Amino acid sequence: MTAQNLAIEKTPLERYVAPEKPSLVGLSREGLGEALTALEVPAAQVKMRVQQLWHWIYVRGVTSFETMTSVSKDLRATLAEHHTLARPEVVAEQISADGTRKWLLRLPGEHAGENPHEVECVYIPEIDRGTLCLSSQVGCTLNCSFCHTGTQRLVRNLTAGEIVGQIMIARDRLGDWNASAETTRKVSNIVMMGMGEPLYNFEAVRDALLVAQDGDGLGISRRRITLSTSGVVPMIPRAGEEIGVMLAVSLHAVRDELRNELVPLNRKYPIKQLLEACRNYPGVSNARRITFEYVMLKGINDSIADAKELVRLLKGIPAKINLIPFNPWPGTRYECSDWEQIEKFSQVVFDAGYASPVRTPRGRDILAACGQLKSATEKLSARERLALRAMAMTD
Ligand code: SAH
Ligand code: SF4
Repeated sequence: MTAQNLAIEKTPLERYVAPEKPSLVGLSREGLGEALTALEVPAAQVKMRVQQLWHWIYVRGVTSFETMTSVSKDLRATLAEHHTLARPEVVAEQISADGTRKWLLRLPGEHAGENPHEVECVYIPEIDRGTLCLSSQVGCTLNCSFCHTGTQRLVRNLTAGEIVGQIMIARDRLGDWNASAETTRKVSNIVMMGMGEPLYNFEAVRDALLVAQDGDGLGISRRRITLSTSGVVPMIPRAGEEIGVMLAVSLHAVRDELRNELVPLNRKYPIKQLLEACRNYPGVSNARRITFEYVMLKGINDSIADAKELVRLLKGIPAKINLIPFNPWPGTRYECSDWEQIEKFSQVVFDAGYASPVRTPRGRDILAACGQLKSATEKLSARERLALRAMAMTD
């Protein structure tokens, strides 16, 4: 089996023109209300119109105002004159042999005349769920030494609309509108584990995830949404209070000295402070555990002593431990731990009472796995191209 590649009406970068009319996709109820008020919809009607738009946009997934038959014809025309229902532009779709899909999305630059940006969004189907991995930023400022996204130079925050837009695109392309129950939906779960540090773009991520969890709209319950952070300690309580989603923490090391190197943000918020914030995470309980992500780096953080220290550190915190095989990228200085070592490590964790699933890498053939997401707008260096070719040949 081979992966499929599909370029979708790819506009050359030099001809790209950012959309002029603002899209209503991604707006909260308040945002829709403001848009309607600006179009001079009488105040007494705004609430009812918002309900209608909400349903058409987030339950039915329509892409034109024309289809909104319960909305008056005049209002439909006014809406179409001033707004669109556009999602971020999909410039390529790749389908892995294992069913994982990756979409490359093009977003307008932040300032007029600036080149557009690109981000990725990945869909991972499993037997009992379908998980959509969303990006929160173009690139990332945090430079974790093992992460490809962190090497990207361009960085900008995504808007709430662009984050919700990724869910809309997945539902569009998977034919996932109008599914009756949460369990029969193709996109049943969301993880904020794509490009970027979600807690460095807090407001937009919060607004987007509140839209996503609205029971009368996209309807993805907060138990099925996980936000992954590299450890922005001051924002962790706010994530619990204001978004209420499940928390995942990229721990990756059990000593500050090593974590400073792998996750440089650790110099600002060391392990002790990070774990304290986890202990106090609003709503944390044995039924709502925090996931600790731990990337397996050969000879760096994968010793049995590290495993023992890991379970010692997490004592008293309702936790799950997720061991992630390192996904190599061209030019990285790290290697993934040997399988045998991962098993030994995982046994220590298991013996301490934690289920310790090792995350199976998905979509490797389309570079869709964790930490491999990086904008394609960036030119690869000759060295990177050579390394990529070598990787493709040995796969
Ligand atoms: N910025 C957030 C969320 C995005 S990264 C964070 O760091 O948590 C999602 C997960 O992928 C994190 O746990 C991150 O550490 C991990 N990751 C990054 N690069 C990786 C790589 N090359 N191999 C495996 N996991 C990686
Ligand atoms: Fe940013 Fe997360 Fe990558 Fe670190 S691991 S550079 S925080 S995306």
